[in-house]
Amino acid sequence: MDNPVTQSILVVGGGMAGMSAAIEAAEAGYDVYLVEKNPYLGGRVAQLHKYFPKLCPPYCGLEINFRRMRQNQKVRFFTMAEVESISGQAGDFTVSVRLNPRYVNEKCTCCGKCAEACSMEMDNPFNFGLDKIKAAYLPHDMALPMRYVLDPALVKSGEAQKVNEACPYEAIELDMQPKTMELKVGAIVWASGWDPYDAAKLDTYGFGQYPNLITNVMMERLAAWNGPTQGKIVRPSDGQAPQTIGFVQCAGSRDENHLPFCSGICCLASLKQVTYIREQHPEAKVYIFFIDIRATDRLEDFYAKVKEDPNIVFFKGKVAKITEDPATKNLILRVENTATEKLEEISVDLAVLATGMQPTTSKSPLPLKAAYDDYGFIAQNSGLPGVFGAGCARTPVNVSEAVQDGTAAALKAIQFIGRR
Ligand SMILES: Cc1cc2nc3c(=O)[nH]c(=O)nc-3n(C[C@H](O)[C@H](O)[C@H](O)COP(=O)(O)OP(=O)(O)OC[C@H]3O[C@@H](n4cnc5c(N)ncnc54)[C@H](O)[C@@H]3O)c2cc1C
Repeated sequence: MDNPVTQSILVVGGGMAGMSAAIEAAEAGYDVYLVEKNPYLGGRVAQLHKYFPKLCPPYCGLEINFRRMRQNQKVRFFTMAEVESISGQAGDFTVSVRLNPRYVNEKCTCCGKCAEACSMEMDNPFNFGLDKIKAAYLPHDMALPMRYVLDPALVKSGEAQKVNEACPYEAIELDMQPKTMELKVGAIVWASGWDPYDAAKLDTYGFGQYPNLITNVMMERLAAWNGPTQGKIVRPSDGQAPQTIGFVQCAGSRDENHLPFCSGICCLASLKQVTYIREQHPEAKVYIFFIDIRATDRLEDFYAKVKEDPNIVFFKGKVAKITEDPATKNLILRVENTATEKLEEISVDLAVLATGMQPTTSKSPLPLKAAYDDYGFIAQNSGLPGVFGAGCARTPVNVSEAVQDGTAAALKAIQFIGRR
């Protein structure tokens, strides 16, 4: 071996695809660095209430991965970390990683005294702004690492000292600074995942103006036991149980003005969310407004099962406009029924926009000149020898596909190093 240092692998993104790549490569004997920009690992999956098709809680699968990672000395992970630059050449990259300050060190026991002492609040990013959290916070109940974070605004405020003094374990370090570290790696797996498409861009729907118009990712948080309502699916405007709910499929997807592609998961996600509603509101009437339902291979069985529910109306038509009845805060969905060719206006208590998955790389590209497809996903051949896209950074995938894709990327990285 010419240079043993470059036998290591860098994985960017600690979601299902990135964690799978990191664990598989480490279990095959390679040293892996996993770099995650959030203060916790797990990616978007940590924000889901249940997984289709089995309807099991995602924490279960995450916990298995966390355990595999904790048990393997070969994976080192860094949260609140981002790649600043990559130099060198294929097989011998030098990567500069910025570590942002958490202002809380490893002595933190999660006692929560800092949050008790803190009065500053902010929108809770984990719950998509559906509630507020203290500016000294634990990102979520199963976070890895299980450690509080201080928001930079709190650290700069006059309240910082009070919060610091409330910590009985000397775990707060208000003078923590950003750091840069340099890594030498032979191959890179880029698994930076997806962002929900910005529903505010759908100007005929009025997202952001009407409290009872939410997105599918918000519905995941509303239904979750550790969400803003402790799992109660209620209307944000008045906390009442909704009796009619409308799912607006392809909200921005398959639309050349927004996301021209199909994410392949939004139909399944809405069908899954109908089961959340059914558990809590057995009499509620649900409309699914769709162009066509995309549930392929075995997921078709899940669709067929949900379809047996007589209280779901599958309405073939694309919602053109959404307005609000100011008196009731109900939403009025204007949609052409393609079966009758009639324009209808349907009022619902709560509406869910099934927005698609936008690759993070379309807003934050790699710090090297990589190849992307027409939609901003990393191309199958990234154009950069030794750099491999995985998971939703490469193409829209569900969780089991993200795991397979991460594993495949680990193998490509290993082969690449092995060939040198
Ligand atoms: C409403 C909804 C419901 C869904 N429900 C299901 C379901 O029930 N079953 C199912 O199989 N799939 C479901 N999915 C799909 C599932 O969320 C994805 O398959 C999964 O998140 C893909 O994992 P990933 O690792 O590719 O991406 P992500 O989960 O997005 O993880 C990427 C990680 O990379 C990090 N990152 C981003 N940029 C950087 C950077 N520059 N540097 C470092 N780190 C970075 C992110 O913080 C994140 O932690 C659902 C999707 C939606 C929209």
